[in-house]
Amino acid sequence: MSQHHSTRAVHAGEEKHKPYHTLTTPIARTSTYTFRNSAEVTAFMEEKASGSGPYSRSEYGRYGNPTQSAAERKLADLEGGERTLLFSTGMAAVSTTLLTLLSSGDHMILSKDSFYQTREFAQALLSRWGIETTLVENVRPEAYDAAIQPNTRLIFVETPSNPYLRVTDLPKIIEIARAHKLLTIVDSTFATPLNLRPLELGADLVIQSATKYLAGHNDVLAGAVIGSKTALTDIATVRGLMGTTLGADDASLLIRGLKTLDLRIRRQNENGMRVAQFLEKQPGIERVWYPGLASHPDHEIACQQMTGFGSVVSFEIKGDFETTGRFIDNLKIPFIGPTLGGVESIILQPAALYSLDPLERKLGGMKDNLLRYAIGIEDAEDLIADLEQALKRL
Ligand SMILES: *Cc1c(COP(=O)(O)O)cnc(C)c1O
Repeated sequence: MSQHHSTRAVHAGEEKHKPYHTLTTPIARTSTYTFRNSAEVTAFMEEKASGSGPYSRSEYGRYGNPTQSAAERKLADLEGGERTLLFSTGMAAVSTTLLTLLSSGDHMILSKDSFYQTREFAQALLSRWGIETTLVENVRPEAYDAAIQPNTRLIFVETPSNPYLRVTDLPKIIEIARAHKLLTIVDSTFATPLNLRPLELGADLVIQSATKYLAGHNDVLAGAVIGSKTALTDIATVRGLMGTTLGADDASLLIRGLKTLDLRIRRQNENGMRVAQFLEKQPGIERVWYPGLASHPDHEIACQQMTGFGSVVSFEIKGDFETTGRFIDNLKIPFIGPTLGGVESIILQPAALYSLDPLERKLGGMKDNLLRYAIGIEDAEDLIADLEQALKRL
């Protein structure tokens, strides 16, 4: 029987017996790797010439690192893929992957409410090399179908999406993609492998901003692409060319974060649900967006393909831009800022942060009274009491 996620999060990917008899995976802080003699150089070059990686040893830091490799094996195990490639940020994972898979003249389909820099990368940068992107409504499979052109190469979806937690029907999208021989890439950052397993549903690649839940402590930036060895071979080569790899220190923080992933996600799923249920009952709240609630438009699909709904809860206050800001200022527990998934709760009024941004304006902007609450691992009772007092003082 295969072991449970909680056990694998602790043990998978790491050697049982490590250099210097350490229990934890050592940080190999080095820019390069040396060979004992010329025969070792030849043996390594032969291994490289005959395979597609990962290899038995490292050669130079831009191509990989033993600490990074352990983190990669652990994440591959959790996500159910053959191989993982780690990157310096989630955006490095997105950009390196798209630059590898797309050529001038190609077309891709991207969900409209996907991560804002992913859209910007596609529309402002890839377009300069003649790569065209069509944005489609995230949750309408027929929109993906209709957007397919003879030069379409891939479909890139993000689910659940930000900030409305829209959930894409992955089996349907994957079926459409396969019928047209297109690749499906799923940015699964909001779900993590504990709440959604896109590779098992037939996706070709999963992308994670490991900065969020995977590292989980708001102290490291990292990104990952997970998939089959074949699908990752070319991306690994381009990562080496672009130098978007993850350093050993950050890889070590990621390993440490992943060990508690199961514990943290259990707590965060529970916190998300309890806060969403609380908010939904408050007269001062106009609307709550959380896929675990029956009132969410994608609740049914979410229940079919996910095992938990995460800890991002978006909601609309009854009031204007200023009231919403006042509500945030009344809260005592969360920090104010962007990002999500860490142990600390963080809240954000998207309209305040993004209203002056040209791309957001082009896409219609965010409602003034919308809040995105990325809940951490604090006690749900304290989080709810905090929300209660902040609402009372409005
Ligand atoms: C944060 C995020 C990214 C980008 O990750 P970085 O580590 O910030 O570069 C990509 N996709 C989603 C869904 C994210 O939330």
